[in-house]
Amino acid sequence: MVDIERQLLTIFEHTGALLEGHFQLTSGLHSPRYLQCALVLQYPEHAEFVGRALAARFGDDRVDVVVAPAIGGIIVAHETARAFGVRALFTEREAGVMTLRRGFRLIRGERVLVVEDVVTTGGSTRETIDAVIDADGVVIGAGSLVDRSGGAVDVGVRRQSLLTLDVPAYEPSECPLCKEGVPQIKPGSRGLKN
Ligand SMILES: [Zn+2]
Repeated sequence: MVDIERQLLTIFEHTGALLEGHFQLTSGLHSPRYLQCALVLQYPEHAEFVGRALAARFGDDRVDVVVAPAIGGIIVAHETARAFGVRALFTEREAGVMTLRRGFRLIRGERVLVVEDVVTTGGSTRETIDAVIDADGVVIGAGSLVDRSGGAVDVGVRRQSLLTLDVPAYEPSECPLCKEGVPQIKPGSRGLKN
């Protein structure tokens, strides 16, 4: 395991961000493990570490802007953009469609790195990439703090993750925890995601 991964795992453990149970994820899948990145990112020094490490992975890509899906990606984008010395924007859903709001604009052809906290299915990264393309940006890559797909997700651009974990996620109909009758935790309503 590379050094950054080991350091991040230690940070996740120390901040209580790696939870065990029976979780219903935003994607609708069920999982025995849950990563609450907000518990890591609440510490500015950890957030800064994450941003610098992500920026280093895309250091040769001439990034003009970093864009993330709200809410989970905002701090990741902010710290990555700080490391590059560029702008940090975020997308939000408007009538169900991920879009740039609040007066955020891209100049045609600006080179955009899309980041988020956790990649599970890649759905919100893909939606954010689409929003950037709609806004005339050029997506040069996608980064995340955690990839819980074990590296399997393809979003159509070069992807980098600081911590890759192969965490099982099941369709509810195939979930072994459901079959065992383990009580379900639905973290979404408490601001958790992934
Ligand atoms: Zn289940």
